[in-house]
Amino acid sequence: MTQALELFDVTIIGGGPAGLYAAFYSGMRDLKTKLIEAREELGGRTLMYPEKIVWDVGGMAPARAAQLTKLMIQQAQTFDPTIVLGQQITGLERLADGTMRITSATGKQHWSQTLILAIGHGALKLAKLNLSGAENYEKENLHYTITELAIFRDKRVLISGGGDSAVDWANELVRIASSVTLVHRREHFNGLERNVRRMKASGVKVLTPYAITDLYGNGNRLDAVSIAPLNADGEWTDETVQERHAVDAVLINHGLRGDLGPIVDWGLAREDWNFNADEKLATNLPGVYVAGDTANYGSKLYLIAGAFTDAALAVNSAMLYIKPDAPTRAQVSSHHSKFDDKNRAFELVEERS
Ligand SMILES: Cc1cc2nc3c(=O)[nH]c(=O)nc-3n(C[C@H](O)[C@H](O)[C@H](O)COP(=O)(O)OP(=O)(O)OC[C@H]3O[C@@H](n4cnc5c(N)ncnc54)[C@H](O)[C@@H]3O)c2cc1C
Repeated sequence: MTQALELFDVTIIGGGPAGLYAAFYSGMRDLKTKLIEAREELGGRTLMYPEKIVWDVGGMAPARAAQLTKLMIQQAQTFDPTIVLGQQITGLERLADGTMRITSATGKQHWSQTLILAIGHGALKLAKLNLSGAENYEKENLHYTITELAIFRDKRVLISGGGDSAVDWANELVRIASSVTLVHRREHFNGLERNVRRMKASGVKVLTPYAITDLYGNGNRLDAVSIAPLNADGEWTDETVQERHAVDAVLINHGLRGDLGPIVDWGLAREDWNFNADEKLATNLPGVYVAGDTANYGSKLYLIAGAFTDAALAVNSAMLYIKPDAPTRAQVSSHHSKFDDKNRAFELVEERS
């Protein structure tokens, strides 16, 4: 089926802090804006540490990352940009009139005059267990997420991981499973400290630094796994110290990993996994800009605060690409007529409270 061509001024790829702020600022500049995110939810890397308290975002009181994510999403929606979830952008093609056609892994197409790549370290995906044949066991009892807690009732569960998810699930599962063992490749846990303390006191058998080394089962269903202690470099060296654990279910919580995918073949100049940009956040491809952790330039600040600055700069550059005689930046929000109605609504809420 042919898709209706809807041309956007700016298409932002990536819905983390950089992409979300770019969507807001692009609205301030009256640009027809689309944001495309590979995952089914917005927030980027901040989704990896929802419970952590963030102190270093300017002008914001310390807040849990989950709260910051919520505020960034709310701000991004101020001027109603088109937001597309669940599409990893993989292809870029420039049409004869200069329009860019971008394609997602699922074959969906989008048309834009400019692009802002705010893709961090790539599309965030669940890190899989790196053992031969592991994917076969996903059919039955090797899990990466839990959708139904009840299936673990009275089961022997082994969890691998040391972040918030692993620790939180250990605390949940220990209440209903017949046993919970948690292995983590480091001594230190990244999960919230009070939850780690709770886990250690709750009857979960915690083994560190340990990793899963082998899987045993019929190809669909796991019966047991081998685990082994790791050395100071996080490596498993001594085969004689493997311990075999009978299991009914295994849960892997190794976090999210970035995947840049075919974007690395677009002809963008880069250093390792970051795309080179000048002080206007322009890449070597006309009309293609970068913002946030994916950008590489001399004074780049790999912080959320840096992502916000990059985003505004990239939007201003996109604006000048489309309209070279436009002002170089947006008027400040406190004096911007685009906020007149919104200011009145804000004042009404103030008066009522
Ligand atoms: C554990 C941890 C704690 C941190 N704590 C802090 C802190 O306290 N303060 C601070 O300032 N910073 C902190 N950071 C860093 C901060 O999270 C990053 O600097 C910030 O998230 C970068 O934002 P971004 O938008 O550039 O990239 P990301 O947050 O990585 O977002 C990129 C988004 O683009 C999407 N994407 C990628 N490729 C594609 C594609 N091809 N198609 C569609 N979508 C795509 C990804 O799925 C992702 O959602 C922390 C990071 C971590 C991991």
